[in-house]
Amino acid sequence: MRDFDIIVVGAGPAGLAFARGLEGSGLTVALVERQPAEVLAEPPVDGREIALTHRSVATLEKLGAWNRIAPDQIFALRAARVYNGRSSLALGFDTDGGPEDRLGCLVSNHLIRQSLFDAMEGQDGVTLMADTGVEHVHADRAGARVTLADGRTLTARLLVAADSRFSAVREQLGISAEINRLGKSMLVVRLSHEMPNHGIATEWFDHRQTIAMLPLGEHISSAVLTLKSATIERIAAYQPEILAAEIEDRFDRRLGTMQFVSGPRVYPLATTYARHFVSDSSALIGDAAVGMHPVTAHGFNLGLQSAATLSRLVRGAAQKDRPIASPLLLRRYETRHRLATRPLYSGTNLLVHLYTAESPRAHVARRAALEAAAHFAPLNTAISRMLLRH
Ligand SMILES: Cc1cc2nc3c(=O)[nH]c(=O)nc-3n(C[C@H](O)[C@H](O)[C@H](O)COP(=O)(O)OP(=O)(O)OC[C@H]3O[C@@H](n4cnc5c(N)ncnc54)[C@H](O)[C@@H]3O)c2cc1C
Repeated sequence: MRDFDIIVVGAGPAGLAFARGLEGSGLTVALVERQPAEVLAEPPVDGREIALTHRSVATLEKLGAWNRIAPDQIFALRAARVYNGRSSLALGFDTDGGPEDRLGCLVSNHLIRQSLFDAMEGQDGVTLMADTGVEHVHADRAGARVTLADGRTLTARLLVAADSRFSAVREQLGISAEINRLGKSMLVVRLSHEMPNHGIATEWFDHRQTIAMLPLGEHISSAVLTLKSATIERIAAYQPEILAAEIEDRFDRRLGTMQFVSGPRVYPLATTYARHFVSDSSALIGDAAVGMHPVTAHGFNLGLQSAATLSRLVRGAAQKDRPIASPLLLRRYETRHRLATRPLYSGTNLLVHLYTAESPRAHVARRAALEAAAHFAPLNTAISRMLLRH
């Protein structure tokens, strides 16, 4: 007799969405999280602004989380522009006259986490074990066993790792991953600005820096600056008004003068892709499976998709009284999620390389690619469609 049907490690957005997706399935779930319950109920602001696709919004609606986010905290993303250095050529992504008036929405990460936690709290069958980390896991065809930091041991039919891109559970399951530490960091800071942004996100790849502006209302944006880690640390230590002036300058005053609102926060950049998403009686979801480069803003969306794909398969099996961790079911999850993620993961890394490589050959290739895209509308349309769908 096992303690639970499923043990989920990590109550980040992926772990919460997976547990929430099992509502009404009759399955018992232990959700183990290192952070205390009070922090999960009111997550601190972390400066991440998540660009949600229409598909993610629909998933959050289904999970009962979307209507818990205050409407004035949801910002329309009407279009996106990608610039290369001083060139006036830009890749433009918009809704292309389709039925939608926006590419997606921007919502702060802490609000999404809070809404998912609120929706999940008190859910039948879910036991939250907060304030304790998972120390050790073992899984084989018969099931999974987990040892907590406080010494308790739990058993289950299925183990789900949702413990982030440097997943210790993944490692203990013996699943290796492609890990690229990029030696760069991202600084995120919220600023107000003189000129309106019209709901357009801008990504500007300039000489040795990348700077993005994400619209949070007409005159407020989240600036995301990517540089060598040592430089970012130095800039993060600036006084608020000097930091605002620095970003204003680095953005070439395209939005006029800027004032500091909140932040800054720093995140080291690393991308990861697990060689397998499943093993005996276990599966990886969220960043534990795929840690995307944030430049195309897909990490959260794909994490949510992984949680939805796996919970749908597990629910379906439970309803038919079939095993919830059979090799066939797990393989099905892996195949679907690899298909959904591999092209985007590789495409994003290629895009980043194309735009950030500094050799003269790379400059020529970049310009050629931009010109090709600017004069070949179907390419832009295809990318926009991809953004709208995922
Ligand atoms: C600056 C920045 C901007 C981003 N912007 C976007 C964007 O615009 N769009 C987008 O789609 N994505 C974006 N992302 C990516 C997105 O934030 C992640 O993909 C998402 O948070 C991953 O969710 P997760 O649940 O898999 O992992 P996490 O959010 O990392 O959660 C993992 C949880 O597991 C817990 N945990 C870890 N180890 C253990 C353990 N041993 N025992 C118990 N608990 C444990 C942790 O405490 C944590 O709560 C951005 C990321 C960054 C850094």
